[in-house]
Amino acid sequence: MTRRAAATSLLTAILAVVFRGRPHDLVAETPATEFDEQRAFDYLVKICRLGSRMSGSRGMAEQQKILVEHFTAFDAEVRFQPFDAAHPLNGQPVRMNNLIVSWHPQSQQRVLLACHYDTRPYPDRDLILPRGKFIGANDGASGVALFMELAHHLQGQNFPYGIDMVLFDGEELIYGRQGKYFLGSEYFATNYRDEPPAHKYLAGVLVDMIADRNLDLFQEKNSLKYAPLVTKSIWETATRLKVKEFINRAKHEVQDDHLPLNEIAQIPTCDIIDFDYRFWHTTKDIPAQCSGRSLATVGKVLLAWLANPPDLSR
Ligand SMILES: [Zn+2]
Repeated sequence: MTRRAAATSLLTAILAVVFRGRPHDLVAETPATEFDEQRAFDYLVKICRLGSRMSGSRGMAEQQKILVEHFTAFDAEVRFQPFDAAHPLNGQPVRMNNLIVSWHPQSQQRVLLACHYDTRPYPDRDLILPRGKFIGANDGASGVALFMELAHHLQGQNFPYGIDMVLFDGEELIYGRQGKYFLGSEYFATNYRDEPPAHKYLAGVLVDMIADRNLDLFQEKNSLKYAPLVTKSIWETATRLKVKEFINRAKHEVQDDHLPLNEIAQIPTCDIIDFDYRFWHTTKDIPAQCSGRSLATVGKVLLAWLANPPDLSR
């Protein structure tokens, strides 16, 4: 070995010691990158440009392609959970696909983040155009956009629990009074109960209609009933962060994808939902009624809660 080589190898050894300490310090000391509200809103617009994303539609297939490309670019495991459901009008099978994105898949104790990514066939509550075009910017794309942005902040971070995102299909393949809600979450919950995986979901957080420009997030009554620890600790996190859009009192009782998770899968799951959205199930549920700031508000609270959750194993 030459003197030069010896010097180089000494330098390498020193650098190795210095850098060995780094990744841990980075996790502990570097604050999570800022939630990018503009990028989150751009995701929402991109999804809405696909038009209707109802279950089994071409828009849904295009959305799935975008999401698989998006999430596989991160260190996440991406998979579909397929199943068939009868179409409410003609009984023909419709292929459904829940999309599951797993972060640190080896962790056995996990938290489930959920939303739905299908849109309702028609804007039934629209007084003028109940058979018009339904885009579902808030009711559909908002949860998807939040998860797309969250991917940037889960990447390379260590949270106390492993995290799965699930995007449910078939939340509302509903025509007037025909059809059944929550097909995707019911399938997911039944599968989890009947064929238990190696991991356990200690808690779940569902988001729905979280991009309203006038965001008001009251505690939802079924969430308080089934998942009081999860619900209260999320609102406490918001209070700590001085986020006024999370209002510390109960208002609506909502039927949503969290019901199968709570009742069938026994995963204590909270629903974060702005149920005062004026444009719910109308042709006016478009990006102009939504804001990236609202997505960022929910994203920041969720990230802080995931980084510092209560003891969920109780
Ligand atoms: Zn809806």
